[in-house]
Amino acid sequence: METNESKNIAAAYIRVSTNDQTELSPDAQLRVIREAAKADGFQIPEDFIFIEKRGISGRHADNRPEFQRMIAVAKSQKPAPFHRLYLWKFSRFARNQDESTFYKSILRKKCGVDIKSISEPVMEGMFGRLIETIIEWFDEYYSINLSEEVLRGMTEKALRHGYQTSPCFGYAAAGGGKPFLIVESEIQAVEYMFQVFHDGASPAAIARELNARQIRTKRNRPFDGRAVRRILQNPFYTGTVSWNGYHFQGTHEVRESLAALFEDNQKRFCTLNCPGAGTGVASAGTHWLLGLLTCGYCGTPLSLCRSANHSQETGYFQCRKYAKGLHKGSCSISVKKAERVILAFLGQNPSITRSHITRIVLDRREGCLLLYTESDSQVYSLPLKERSDAARQPASPAES
Ligand SMILES: [Zn+2]
Repeated sequence: METNESKNIAAAYIRVSTNDQTELSPDAQLRVIREAAKADGFQIPEDFIFIEKRGISGRHADNRPEFQRMIAVAKSQKPAPFHRLYLWKFSRFARNQDESTFYKSILRKKCGVDIKSISEPVMEGMFGRLIETIIEWFDEYYSINLSEEVLRGMTEKALRHGYQTSPCFGYAAAGGGKPFLIVESEIQAVEYMFQVFHDGASPAAIARELNARQIRTKRNRPFDGRAVRRILQNPFYTGTVSWNGYHFQGTHEVRESLAALFEDNQKRFCTLNCPGAGTGVASAGTHWLLGLLTCGYCGTPLSLCRSANHSQETGYFQCRKYAKGLHKGSCSISVKKAERVILAFLGQNPSITRSHITRIVLDRREGCLLLYTESDSQVYSLPLKERSDAARQPASPAES
């Protein structure tokens, strides 16, 4: 009698995959399992419904208490108290081939329990078993590749939601991954940059103008040529969002005036082929005056610049902060002129040698070089305007 009764009794094992977005809820899985069982002429008593708690990943059977309980119940009597086990998918039964073979052989051979997957109907007989094995192999393969799938999912999420990076100058974050919003005062400055660069201004000159207008970067710092260049070359202003190497058309508001100039401006960058594009600086070099000459406005040592269209013989010293657009007044002197004035002075003052000079300040407002000697006790003013013969006269020492 018991044998006949158990022939119509089935069990259900339900586990929800935490990674499967198309997964049915446990209730939904149970509902379809019950319908299928009813159609097959089986009953599933409440005691034989085994539902794994959420969050149980189940790579191994040891981690699955309900699965272990189901196996224990199946083995508890002979014949087993249920004759068939219903699953939503074979992948819920085991995640690797060895485990699947092991538990299936216990259920089928030792307990006489038949296993049925609702979503993967398999025909009876050896051919059916073969297909079942193929499905299991595929599931194992899928499980191993799951981490890659998750990463791919994250990437797609980023593409869908975008706007995860910090907004560029001209925009503000809207929160919740929504498209960035225009900051009117900033976007007007961007429009100014795009326009004057298009008209021929250098990034450094633009930076100087922005700083004179007290406009600050997103980080509340003065602009320099590089910051301006970064803005001029950012395709976000034309609607393209970049994230982690991906580029896609965003949904943020774009100013037509910017989109119209962007391509032209990129072409202009291509023609400014020297590394210091826009600053007029072609390449640095070495010179005995480097380190001695400093800027009269900010005190920064002057850099040696050679303009692209001049030979190695020529060149000029320039304040690198000015070159970056950090202050307004240019502080430059040609190499030839600096050499002539300083060598003339040294020729007239044999008691002073190069090793005595601590620094030479280029004072553009006064039109002179201020030469400081050891201990700064003596400062000599070397006028720049006088001709070389006038400079032959000993420079008058100035009290400091
Ligand atoms: Zn300076």
